[in-house]
Amino acid sequence: MSLKIQHIIPEIHARFSGNPDTEIDTVSIDSRSLQNNSQTLFFALAGLNNDAHQYIPDLIAKGVQNFVVNHIPKDLESKANFLLVENTLQALQDFASYYRKSFHFPIIGITGSNGKTIVKEWLNFLLSPDYNIIRSPKSYNSQVGVPLSVISINEKHNLGIFEAGISTVREMEKLEKIIQPTIGILTNIGSAHDEGFQNLEEKISEKLRLFEHSEVLIYQKNTLVDSLIDATTKTFSWSFNDKNANVFITQKQLSEKTQLSISYDTISFNAIIPFQDKASIENAISCLMALLYLGYLPEIIQERMQLLYSVEMRLKVKNGINNTAIVDDSYSSDYQSLKIALDFLEQQKQYKKKTIILSDIIQSGLPTDELYKKVSELVTSNKIDRVIGVGEEIGTYSNSFKNIITYKNTDDLISDFKNLNFENETILIKGARIFQFEKITSLLEEKTHETVLEINLNAISHNLNFFKSKLKPQTKLMVMVKAFGYGSGGFEIAKLLEYHKADYLGVAFADEGIALKSAGITLPIMVLNPENTSFSAIIEHNLEPEIYSIKGLRAFLKIAEQKNLEQFPVHIKLDTGMHRLGFQEDDLDELIATLKNTPSIKVKSILSHMATSDDLTHHEFAKSQIALFEKLSARLMQELSINPIRHILNTSGISNYPEAQYDMVRLGIGLYGVSNDPSETKYLENVGTLKSIISQIRTIQSGESVGYGRRFMASKETKIATIPIGYADGIPRSWGNQLGYVMIKNQKASIVGSVCMDMLMVDVSTIDCLEGDPVIIFGEDPNVTYIAEKLGTIPYEILTGISHRVKRVFYRE
Ligand SMILES: *Cc1c(COP(=O)(O)O)cnc(C)c1O
Repeated sequence: MSLKIQHIIPEIHARFSGNPDTEIDTVSIDSRSLQNNSQTLFFALAGLNNDAHQYIPDLIAKGVQNFVVNHIPKDLESKANFLLVENTLQALQDFASYYRKSFHFPIIGITGSNGKTIVKEWLNFLLSPDYNIIRSPKSYNSQVGVPLSVISINEKHNLGIFEAGISTVREMEKLEKIIQPTIGILTNIGSAHDEGFQNLEEKISEKLRLFEHSEVLIYQKNTLVDSLIDATTKTFSWSFNDKNANVFITQKQLSEKTQLSISYDTISFNAIIPFQDKASIENAISCLMALLYLGYLPEIIQERMQLLYSVEMRLKVKNGINNTAIVDDSYSSDYQSLKIALDFLEQQKQYKKKTIILSDIIQSGLPTDELYKKVSELVTSNKIDRVIGVGEEIGTYSNSFKNIITYKNTDDLISDFKNLNFENETILIKGARIFQFEKITSLLEEKTHETVLEINLNAISHNLNFFKSKLKPQTKLMVMVKAFGYGSGGFEIAKLLEYHKADYLGVAFADEGIALKSAGITLPIMVLNPENTSFSAIIEHNLEPEIYSIKGLRAFLKIAEQKNLEQFPVHIKLDTGMHRLGFQEDDLDELIATLKNTPSIKVKSILSHMATSDDLTHHEFAKSQIALFEKLSARLMQELSINPIRHILNTSGISNYPEAQYDMVRLGIGLYGVSNDPSETKYLENVGTLKSIISQIRTIQSGESVGYGRRFMASKETKIATIPIGYADGIPRSWGNQLGYVMIKNQKASIVGSVCMDMLMVDVSTIDCLEGDPVIIFGEDPNVTYIAEKLGTIPYEILTGISHRVKRVFYRE
């Protein structure tokens, strides 16, 4: 892209200050991206509570010169070029739609309730031998993702594939203007109507708007959809049962595959796909229809369809061998997704040293010399310490890279694995499918059993923003990451909170804080429960202790004076009714006397904790705690002449006692997607999904039993699956004996017999499943709140009880 700012101004309806002759060559919305430079046009999007305008001073310091803003931040007017608009997201969309108009090749637009990303990835695979394709990276299908995808088109492309996702009415017409698809595909529309729509008809009609100006719409024939399609839309439909469809298909199951028999016009032929589930079959047919429409011959369709593969769209971070962190993106390699993966690497780097294992880049739409020049620039601007290249092409261009080692193929790298000395580094694994980089990932991954707790980083951001939206703008936010981030991971979550500009982190013990500081977290960290023996370490690592007793205060003062500290921040905890830790009213005289004339420390904040913020039957008690906090803290402030941060609210307090926000709140469980109030839970996103697999399946007869103590007796022939997760992993033993269930293939499988230490058994008599199939222990369903309720406990206990031997994997969608 190369555009002058003066041409952009009218397209996005901006008022401008600065130099209109400036050229821009990239667009960015991500302040963390290391590609932001003087030719970048930065759109400062203003989310619910994460407003990118706040990053502008940092970006100017890094050399970014061009900003689209809804206001010019104070004192920056003369420091950069500003395009002032009413709504920066609208401006990004207008820009994308203007940019899109300069290209005139076929664009496939995909929407539907399920399968969009898979259809897009498969079409890319099926068509890439013949086209230079630009497609949405990952599942960039939103109001922000779509414009960013379209902006990546360049002159060398000759086919585009973009997906569009909407959650409510009037969103699709915006996406239609940006994608301007010529060929439309409607994937599975689902039967449930989503929250953003009044009914299923409205949802479908809205989705169909994507195709308003398409030359054709490909879809599965269905009377409801038919009744909603505009009469002027040309369609190309398929069906399993309606002979009026343009293409009629029958299916036959083969072992682990499906044979499709296709009749279209005068031709009929078979094609085999390596899947048996309904969703994959429908998605494969959507792709097949596109190939037919584009005029592909049956032979080619047959040859390529049988090679379809499972699509992995998530970027994951896992722990690796020898103190490494692995960012696994071993399924695709194109320039766009490389850029996204490098941004993610920067955000999640746990070890300073950054390594990338990179295969040949496939399908960029650029000549190879230009492509590898761009890739090397990307690698350099991202400050990658070493590059390990795999493939003939990248080998040819190894001169363009510093610190590169290359291998002809993946097996060569693997035989040289020992000499690569992977340790104390963050490693991005990024390769095209044919390079089978999963072989490398499995060598680098820390070996644990098949059970993983997957943590959705997008959901954490969402939940954080939800609670921020409840705060007054000036209220600060401390996020509690004690107990390994409520079992969800320490560093990775802290890193994300740092990006979101949380003000404080809270941990229970000094060790937890030390681990975060040592990994490079710079946010201030309060330690709730500092032991006297840890005071030196607390000072050394710049942690901030909570002081809750005169004894503790004296001990800390002694060390602080010995070390000649000045104004070292401490937090004074008041007991207003919880009766756990803290100074009571009677202690205040002594506290004030001790704190007077102590230049070595400074009261940074005064806090208290509520015993019943979640339970409105104790409303009066909660009010009395707040009143006492007000009284005691006011007295401290007055008699010591100090003006510290005051805070008393936890998650439920934020929701139930908004008037007591004071200067800061302490968010805990809500960040992890759990609210004590069911009406609030629906606004939160599920963060953790505990997954395992089926180890073995057997059939037992009536009268036979399962597990220790024979607590399950089959009353009829029963199919039993064994899952390698037990109470040592944190599954309460009481969750067995048909109280609890797991999900397999979206169906409930009741846990039979007692949960064992490392295993549990479930009844899968009515589920069509195989050994090795994935199992969900908890996540969306069953969720931890439900499990906790059934077991007479609280979600906190379930979440923090998941043992450390369960591997955590973090991902971003
Ligand atoms: C754990 C904790 C919190 C957070 O509580 P949630 O209910 O998880 O929001 C806040 N303050 C203190 C002192 C805590 O110990």
